[in-house]
Amino acid sequence: MKNKELEVDELITNDNLLDNLTFDEIGDDHLFTGMETPMKADAFVMSDDEKKDKIANLFSQIMDVMGLDLTDDSLKGTPRRVAKMYIDEIFSGLNPANKPKIALFDNKYQYNQMLVEKNITFYSNCEHHFVPIIGKAHVAYISSGRVIGLSKLNRIVQYYAKRPQVQERLTNQIGTDLQEILNTEDVAVVIDAKHLCVSSRGVKDDTSSTVTAFYGGKFNDDEKIRQLQNYIYNQ
Ligand SMILES: [Zn+2]
Repeated sequence: MKNKELEVDELITNDNLLDNLTFDEIGDDHLFTGMETPMKADAFVMSDDEKKDKIANLFSQIMDVMGLDLTDDSLKGTPRRVAKMYIDEIFSGLNPANKPKIALFDNKYQYNQMLVEKNITFYSNCEHHFVPIIGKAHVAYISSGRVIGLSKLNRIVQYYAKRPQVQERLTNQIGTDLQEILNTEDVAVVIDAKHLCVSSRGVKDDTSSTVTAFYGGKFNDDEKIRQLQNYIYNQ
């Protein structure tokens, strides 16, 4: 236990990552260090119930340190509420057991143009500040012979959104997973999102939003991209 704490401490004070940027700078500039969500090897040794107990306990300590009176009726239930929300809802996408089960169907209609599922509203959380990222995802694919239920496109977006995220990774994770599920390179994902860490704190810009895109296979083509953008923004 002692060792574990030391390791975490060392990690936090190690400033020599990514070309001498400090961890603080990496977080505040929202730099992105990898495609995979960084997870520990033993991430799922503890059960969800054990995690909730532990988080409730630790969160009550945070509240206590900030001077909040945890005997107050309004605050009493907060640590457990937050723990349940983290594990069962807003960070449930960390656990592969929660990945949506996807069934594909034959493309009976022989529809061979792009299919666009647009304006998929999602709520995620910035992994640098743990405050919300709220946005819309637009997902497109061209069938390689099999098709997916439309609601499943939505569910894949929600699954990856329910993690501490950076928008670039969220975009790529949705794109590459859909390529695998649909067995085609021809997948595109465009995400337009607001980061509350930018609008409600820090630089406090309430009007900017961040747009990211993933274009695979046939979507690496100016005409296809124009067509996709036309579907997303003009229709
Ligand atoms: Zn942030």
